Parts: sequence; structure tokens; C-alpha cells
Amino acid sequence: MLVQIAAAVLWTVGLACGSPSHGENEQSFGYDSGELDPSHWANEYKTCSGKYQSPIDIEENLVTKVNLPLLRFHNIDTLPTSTTITNNGHTVVLQLNYTAPVMISGGPLTPTYRFTQLHFHWGVNDSLGSEDLINNHSYPMELHMVFSNTDYDDEKIALTKNDGLVVLAMFFEITQEDNPVYSEIVNTLGQINMPDQTSNLLVGFTIRSMLPESTELYFTYKGSLTTPPCLEVVTWIDFKHPIQLSHNQVQAFRMLRSKHGQLTHNSRPVQELSGRPVWYNVGGFAALNTPTIQKNTAASFGLAISKIFMLLCCKLATLTLF
Ligand SMILES: [Zn+2]
Repeated sequence: MLVQIAAAVLWTVGLACGSPSHGENEQSFGYDSGELDPSHWANEYKTCSGKYQSPIDIEENLVTKVNLPLLRFHNIDTLPTSTTITNNGHTVVLQLNYTAPVMISGGPLTPTYRFTQLHFHWGVNDSLGSEDLINNHSYPMELHMVFSNTDYDDEKIALTKNDGLVVLAMFFEITQEDNPVYSEIVNTLGQINMPDQTSNLLVGFTIRSMLPESTELYFTYKGSLTTPPCLEVVTWIDFKHPIQLSHNQVQAFRMLRSKHGQLTHNSRPVQELSGRPVWYNVGGFAALNTPTIQKNTAASFGLAISKIFMLLCCKLATLTLF
């Protein structure tokens, strides 16, 4: 464990920095085989060959179980004043404008993070498409809600800091029924079929309506943007419980076009874990309890020593890892 914590400290301090933001239109990269595909991204974007990249495969039998403070959401029940939806040639991005910002704090996060945008990743068919995998299983689609650290003046500065961004990741599974929360988004995709096309949602949605039923159960680890320049500035929070979408709803995303043809898929292959710890929050945290690490981490220690050690680890982790 000490080795693990020490590695986490070194890793946190040693992260690479960069400048362009996730999903900017001028970036030339793609997902189909050829010189723009993910295996060639590092030719143009050196930071894509970093050691602690995303996505990863999360193996549930290898994660460290933890009991973190509750994630806290702010202003997630308010409808945005306006919502724009854009095909940027790599994904569908939604910008939600508010009079008061949507924020997240708590859980593994020390500072507060402000919502900036959300977007999607999907696959060519319903058997794959998510970026992170769980036990090597791929879901047909994944939603990324991007938040920026409010300690920094803006997202460009946040992109140069190893605690700059948080991405909430939500997996989708296929069901028979359409998910009504996504109806307006799906119905608007026809208006942004071509790259760089933008439209507006007339009604929009609340952030809460996009979250899974439980936000207590999640995996969390430190990684990177999954698009160039792949900056290692992201605390990932992957909710365990998937959201339901119908086949037709996911299929509508596959009909969009990129600058290089049909945007049938936009998921980066998984990257090496390289010894990173992946934590799984087991939930059930009582607000005033001290976070405790369970199971895998303390199996070889006596109970009293374990408790002291776990508290120490949590303190260190709070100060350094997150
Ligand atoms: Zn993404």
C-alpha cells in the first residue's frame, strides 16, 4: 500500500501538460484505420503516448474498495436557459447555459468543479462503443460530463493542471423502450448531420435527469482526455449502473458524419493501466464518518493496525492523489 501511495504521489506530481481543449474542431484525428487513427495520434500529439492514459479496462476483482464522502451536486435540478448541440466531427457536444453554474464536489474531489459540456462515445453496433471497459465488457455508448476545477480561472488553465478536470462517465445499455430524456437530443441529430453543424434544443434537460439512479457506486481513477492531445489532467468517475437507451436512439448517433465519412464509432481503444490504483466506491457513507478503505488493502494487517493505516492512507490520498 505504501508503495501504491508513493507511486500515486509521484504520478500525480509528474503529469504532462498541454493546451488545446477536448473536442476542438481544428484537431485532425480520427477513429478509422489510416494515418489519423488512434494508433497514430502520438505522431502529432506527443502527450497521447503518456504513461497514464485513458480509457482503461477496469477489472472489478482488482479495484480497491473505498468508502468516500458523498458526491455533492449543485444546481442540477435547474433547466438551462439555452442548450446548443453540435456535431464537431468527432462527437456530439452539448453546451448548457445557466444563470447559476452546475457544480460537483465531494467524493474523491478536494476542490469544486464547474460543468462545462457533455458529449458521447459510441460503437459501430450495440456490442461495443464505451471507452472504459468493465471486466473487459464494452457498453454500446458512454456519456462524458466534463467539469473544470474552479480553483483555476478558466478551463485552459485547468488543462495544464493534473487536477484540472473531472469527467463523470455513464454507460448505456440497450432496452426495448426509448428513453424519453434523450428524445429531444436524438430528434435533433438530423439537424447536425454534417460536421460543424449546430442547433438548439427548445426544451433541454436537467443534469439530474442524465444521471444514473445511484451516484454512490462508482469507479474512480486518474487518467487523461480520450481525444488528442490526451492530457493527463482528468479524475475519472465512472458510475457503475448503466442508463437505458433503445437501439434506435443509439443508432441515430451512428448516422452522423465526420470530415472523413460516417461517424459510425468514436471510441479510443483501452490503454495500459501502468500500475495506477482504481478505486471503487461502495457507497453507504454516513456524512460524518471517516472514509475507510476496505478489503483488498488491509487483508494482512491486524484490525487495530489496519484502522490506523487505512486512516493514514485516506489522509495521504486526500492530500495527494485527488
Ligand atoms: Zn469523451
